[in-house]
Amino acid sequence: MQNKAPGKDLSLEDLREKIPLCAKKTPNHKSIVKVKDISFGGKEIPFLSGPNTIESPKLIMSIGKMLKSLKLKGMRGGAFKPLTFPYRSKKYFEPGVEGLDWLKQSKNKNNLVVTTEIMELKYLDKLCSSTDIIQIGSRNMQNYPLLTECAKTSMPIMLKRHYGSSLRDWLGAAEYILAEGNKKVILCERGVSVPHTHRATSRFLLDLQVIPAVKEITHLPIISDPSHATFWAPWVESMTLASIASGCDGILIEVHPDPKNAAVDPLQPLNFKQFKQLIKKSKKIAKCMDRKIV
Ligand code: PEP
Ligand code: MN
Repeated sequence: MQNKAPGKDLSLEDLREKIPLCAKKTPNHKSIVKVKDISFGGKEIPFLSGPNTIESPKLIMSIGKMLKSLKLKGMRGGAFKPLTFPYRSKKYFEPGVEGLDWLKQSKNKNNLVVTTEIMELKYLDKLCSSTDIIQIGSRNMQNYPLLTECAKTSMPIMLKRHYGSSLRDWLGAAEYILAEGNKKVILCERGVSVPHTHRATSRFLLDLQVIPAVKEITHLPIISDPSHATFWAPWVESMTLASIASGCDGILIEVHPDPKNAAVDPLQPLNFKQFKQLIKKSKKIAKCMDRKIV
């Protein structure tokens, strides 16, 4: 690392002056982000699992029930979706505010910690009363006013990495949250744009290497999203296991009872059977890492 001109990689000067709150103070400096009865950055590896989109009360309730039956504690699901194209249909949609109510019902009934994405500040209050972790999506990673306002709520914030961003830019965004006095930041790697992804439908590549890189530089926990990174369910298991082996502090993953009929991104969710199998294997890898899946 050297100090000269700012570049795409972090310099020692950056650590001191640009991201002093993200940077580790000592080699063993680690932050544990506790959310109700689970925590990120300690021994536990929470799985935040669920549909891409909260399609209906029935869907999110059935997924919540399944997670509870596996003794898992975390759920995901989007009410507001940053869909790449503007057209919506009966099959391709996001539920909006109503979806937050459905999420909350399932969360309360199944005693889960949930995360859901914020897109617009006008929904911030409503979102905070329905979720436990505010998800900042890839596309909003550098929406600084959104980061600042979310940080002020003191809610835990999951900051997804933009698929084109360097670690320097990502941590710069995390610093905006920490600078507001909110220490509950969870980083989320979700795949980056690269020339080769090994499948025509796969747009991103999971940057596993960023997990040890983040741990080298910061005290913040980092979780991995193999569903968005691969965009392809058959690759999700191996990338989840590899993420756990790489030292990640949690997994964000898509599961759906009927993947091919999922409203959004039907190629990436696991079905219930595949998901159960994955949890079994994940527990074994976690044990090798002296950690525990929750
Ligand atoms: C999501 O997790 O629902 C999502 C939209 O992910 P990303 O922001 O990483 O594309
Ligand atoms: Mn998506």
